Amino acid sequence: MIDAIVQKNNNTLTQLGIQFTNLEHPPIKEIYDCMRFLGLPVSDGMSTLIMKADDSYVALLRRDDCKLDLNKACKVIGCSRLNLASPAEFEALTHLPSGAAFVVNPDVKTYIDQKVFEKEFIIGGSGSLSVSNRYHAIDLKNIPDSQVVDIADLKAKQIILTGDTPSGKLHIGHYVGTLENRVKLQHEYQTYILLANVHAYANDYRQFEKINQDVYDVYLDNLSVGIDPEVSTIYLESGIPETMELSSYFMTMVTHARAMRNPSVKEEILYKNLDPTMAFIGYPILQAADILGFKANLVPVGEDQSPVIEQTREIAVDFNKVFGSTFPLPEAMIGRVARLIGTDGKKKMSKSGGNSILLSEDEISLKKKIDSCYTDPTRIHATDPGHVEGNPVFEYHRAFNPNIEEVKDLEDRYRLGTVGDREVKDKLFIALNNFLKPIREKRKYYEDRPEVAKEILREGTLRAQKVVATTLAEVKDKMGFANLLKTQK
Ligand code: ATP
Ligand code: MG
Repeated sequence: MIDAIVQKNNNTLTQLGIQFTNLEHPPIKEIYDCMRFLGLPVSDGMSTLIMKADDSYVALLRRDDCKLDLNKACKVIGCSRLNLASPAEFEALTHLPSGAAFVVNPDVKTYIDQKVFEKEFIIGGSGSLSVSNRYHAIDLKNIPDSQVVDIADLKAKQIILTGDTPSGKLHIGHYVGTLENRVKLQHEYQTYILLANVHAYANDYRQFEKINQDVYDVYLDNLSVGIDPEVSTIYLESGIPETMELSSYFMTMVTHARAMRNPSVKEEILYKNLDPTMAFIGYPILQAADILGFKANLVPVGEDQSPVIEQTREIAVDFNKVFGSTFPLPEAMIGRVARLIGTDGKKKMSKSGGNSILLSEDEISLKKKIDSCYTDPTRIHATDPGHVEGNPVFEYHRAFNPNIEEVKDLEDRYRLGTVGDREVKDKLFIALNNFLKPIREKRKYYEDRPEVAKEILREGTLRAQKVVATTLAEVKDKMGFANLLKTQK
């Protein structure tokens, strides 16, 4: 909401010649939540820190992927102690609610860390919790009584672990649910992508030949949407036996009742019509080992996986409580579309549901799938008013057609009964085909170079194994195993 405070601050910025755009969002205090809401990397954000330097106050602007170097900052400011102002001090000085800093603070000197200017635009405070400003970074030098300094260093990268079960080729639901976030965040986070072939056995071990083929497909799907093997690590789950050992220890910490209560497990048993194996009921525990083996901080997943991440957090909390602080609590990061509907109108597009549009779909099969896609069963003639919510064709238009005006026009006319399914589907075909074209090309690049692809996977698995082996050694040490074999002198 552009309230009076934001309006006043906007005027100040204009007077100072600082170019900016107001970006509105729900009230958010946490910078990470805000950047996630805006769909931007943390490095595009900048915080205004009001700090107490000995007995006076200063404002420090630093990028959110950096941490303040207190020694450097004290030297530059010429103080011996530097502490973040308390909420009361912040409010008294800025006349703003705590957490809603504004970049211009006339009563104090402002120090701007130089890394801010490596960006052309940077997101910073507006003085309101529900508005952030996109600043033209260089203009921030116009802040009165300000100085550009070197007072912050890049933080160690946080870790992402995510992946897919090789139970079939990946589809456009995977893209909006998780792949898109993986690609976007891979430069920001140390990213590990798991080809969860051991998980696939939980569905049906007799299908081992198919699982091995699916591994390759899911691998190419990840590369084809833009996972860069130079920066991300893709690895094969079965190549890390340490994960299985970790999962055995975690299994001792989860009761049967808790395992059966997991909504993801219950839901999947129903829609896959499973007579679940032990491995299936316990799959969230193996997944906890996959995630905690890397001490991951963030897990980009579709909404259906939230309860599994919740169970991972519980395991981490219980382990830390008994054996001492070991694991960070990983957070689920849900994609732009939490759960993409299937072509049959069922709630979730799913590999094993036969209701998907694949990322590797060629033009002919794409056309066929769109033509036979479920629409609105209550609409018999093109002149009947139709429903666009829960209608897959419109859900896909909203998710993949970049021409927002075209989508709105189709929706309006569909509701009125002045457009036929044909036109809606033809336009969807064009949008989806354009989206898939570069993905198909990248896939072909790796398909034509199977040896290169295999080598990347082999190397990635070795790299990943080293990380999990280190975690496992720490876990066993904390569980006291090493002492058992030591001889008493
Ligand atoms: P299966 O039917 O074998 O369970 P799946 O289609 O559910 O396959 P998974 O490998 O289980 O695929 O999931 C991989 C990732 O994709 C998970 O993070 C999951 O939440 C996400 N995902 C799967 N389907 C969708 C969907 N329809 N919409 C959004 N995200 C999805
Ligand atoms: Mg699934």
